[in-house]
Amino acid sequence: MTSTVRVSDVTKAYGRVEAVRGASFALGQGELVALIGHNGAGKTTLMKLMLGLIRPTSGAIEVLGDNPAAGEFAGRRQLGYLPENVSFDPALTGRETQAFYARLKREPVAKALDLLDAVGLGAASRRRVSTYSKGMRQRLGLAQALLGAPRVLLLDEPTTGLDPELRQTFYDIIARLAAAGTTVLLSSHALTELEERAGRVIIMNRGIKVADGSIDELRRLARLPTRIRLKV
Ligand code: ATP
Repeated sequence: MTSTVRVSDVTKAYGRVEAVRGASFALGQGELVALIGHNGAGKTTLMKLMLGLIRPTSGAIEVLGDNPAAGEFAGRRQLGYLPENVSFDPALTGRETQAFYARLKREPVAKALDLLDAVGLGAASRRRVSTYSKGMRQRLGLAQALLGAPRVLLLDEPTTGLDPELRQTFYDIIARLAAAGTTVLLSSHALTELEERAGRVIIMNRGIKVADGSIDELRRLARLPTRIRLKV
């Protein structure tokens, strides 16, 4: 499988706080990976490193074959990001919001509006964002992250606060994207039945990667006599 993201022995310190400590993993094309950990485990820091918004203190990050923090990083347009607690201008409609971001990213507006249908917001697209539920705002955020058909999609706690039905809808959308070849990294505080459906689960605890594998592999590990504790 071709790797789209490589994290090699990465440490990121903010002053004396080591947000990520010696993490290594690679993400393959079309993989859907759940990144699990408590508050402060280092999930957002890992995503910001992959986006090139911050640089590692030591170690290396490669995204789509390049250093994402380099000024001339060619893969930038192929990276989609849904930040935690995404917020939009409540006075704009869904269409106006999506058209605004399309212009900002120099993407065709008609194509961008089609993405509203893809995330199930077609019928509500002429309503103001102020009338949207949390789940609808998350899906609008996803539509924005999908502008430019990214090859790597980073979603920071997209399903937190959503009811099980909306989580399922959201999950179905990203599972389809992964099946079509997009690498999807989805962070979450805890493993729910939905994250368990991801092909692979990476567990972070206080900046350290403590587990990485399919949910079945992790269950088998947890049953070993030495009992590797997954503190999540
Ligand atoms: P959450 O679930 O709360 O979003 P997280 O797993 O995403 O947590 P990070 O946001 O990556 O965790 O934070 C990891 C650690 O780094 C925390 O101790 C946090 O306080 C610290 N940290 C993150 N960003 C900064 C910053 N800009 N300056 C100083 N410390 C930071």
